[in-house]
Amino acid sequence: MPADGRFAPSPTGTLHLGNLRTALLAWLFARSQDARFLVRMEDLDFGRVRRHFEDEQLRDLAAIGLDWDGEVVRQSERRVLHDAALERLRATGLLYECWCTRREIREAASAPHGDVPEGSYPGTCLRLDSAAVAERRASGRPPALRVRAEGARVRFRDRLAGEREGVVDDFVVLRNDGAVAYNLAVVVDDADQGIGEVVRGADLLDSTPRQLWLAERLGLPAPRHAHVALMLGPDGERLAKRHGAITLADRAELGESADDVRCALAASAGLCAPGEQLTPAELVERFSPLALAAA
Ligand code: GLU
Repeated sequence: MPADGRFAPSPTGTLHLGNLRTALLAWLFARSQDARFLVRMEDLDFGRVRRHFEDEQLRDLAAIGLDWDGEVVRQSERRVLHDAALERLRATGLLYECWCTRREIREAASAPHGDVPEGSYPGTCLRLDSAAVAERRASGRPPALRVRAEGARVRFRDRLAGEREGVVDDFVVLRNDGAVAYNLAVVVDDADQGIGEVVRGADLLDSTPRQLWLAERLGLPAPRHAHVALMLGPDGERLAKRHGAITLADRAELGESADDVRCALAASAGLCAPGEQLTPAELVERFSPLALAAA
């Protein structure tokens, strides 16, 4: 069964070469098995989203030769689905309110479940007594909603990163500014859009146990995963502005066409020789996930 794929950028900036390489790989995974490839704008962070980045990102994806099926979907237009999922979690007693600030979470003692990912929530608001909850509710400061995961352990097999296991912390599903949180929206939307295989950057490997746990709680099918290695700068750090010409527009100023960039990205992922010029269709023809370096 071909597994449909997707690329799900946040329209909060210009795509850099690392994002474009991830998009190219996600596209190759899907197209090489004759599956659908969808683009979804993860535009829930309303403070940072800018509409012009969406247009620019789509232009850049098309420029390097990627195409997608159907209309581009925006998460901000799917609130009804997200709310239904929140309601289901609420009805099963899995949600609780949290008033902690980032600083309080940083400063709190380490989480009760040992080897949880960095930045995990230590469960402070779950342990508040009813008087403390009433006091916080009365303060008028809106709470975030977190899930009660009870330190669940989730194992999964990533196509590139292999067998993984992680502890699920009490992560946020609704932010205190009213925005639906990434982990909830991504699970609901991947399932609703029929995504069979999630190909994305290895920076999201640690979020995967949370998402698999949530899919199960919501009775949704879980996709397979392939986390691709992030592109690094010459200093071995994650690609960033300070590394110089990292967008398609920057590369064009240096005289490189979008085709040149696609070929360079494919070569950097080990899919062709450096300098080799292959069309998108030729890359699809040659593509094998086995050729990719693990995340
Ligand atoms: N929107 C996320 C990002 O731009 C990607 C989410 C995903 O692929 O699951 O980092």
